[in-house]
Amino acid sequence: MTAIDLAGRVLAAEAARYTAMGWMRGTSGNLSVVAGRDPLRLIVTVSGRDKGELSEQDVVLVDEEGVAVPDQPHPEQVPSAEAGLHGRIAAASGAGAVVHVHALAPVLAAERSPTGVVLRDLEMLKGFGRAAHDDVVTIPVIPNSQDMKVLGDTFAAGFRPDTPALIVARHGIYVWGDDLHQARHRLECLEWLLRFTIEAQERGA
Ligand SMILES: [Zn+2]
Repeated sequence: MTAIDLAGRVLAAEAARYTAMGWMRGTSGNLSVVAGRDPLRLIVTVSGRDKGELSEQDVVLVDEEGVAVPDQPHPEQVPSAEAGLHGRIAAASGAGAVVHVHALAPVLAAERSPTGVVLRDLEMLKGFGRAAHDDVVTIPVIPNSQDMKVLGDTFAAGFRPDTPALIVARHGIYVWGDDLHQARHRLECLEWLLRFTIEAQERGA
């Protein structure tokens, strides 16, 4: 088994978990791991598949712009259209894994706070890698676009190394970490934080 197939097995298992959470509905969302840094290479899930039913072969090796590289086990596979943003995030942040899901809470939170979602004084912030007190965390929100270069440039303009997440308005969320586990733990905690924010606002808290 190649290193790419091994990564594919792990990515398929992670995608199945996110699907079970209801965060990868239809064929939405995509996950990646960094395969090399010089030059940057990512292994990303394929486009257009049910993310609950991926196999280890449903991944593609792409360059930093999200374009499939010629020499790989499954060159016929089509990478996710959003692979280009994964590349920009991995390049800027140094992350080893990037996850993108279409969870509802981030999109609702961005609808209320289109310039950034502010979080503070919540224990769960620790799970996002920040302090539970005396810390103000602003999750950046950028407008949606079908042009990955536009999304990448807007992301880069507002990038902060201490905030490993990005909400794309009316679309979904990106979270990253050293590996897929850290990225998932951060996403799980951040989704809770965003859900709390929405529900607290609705209740006038
Ligand atoms: Zn998406």
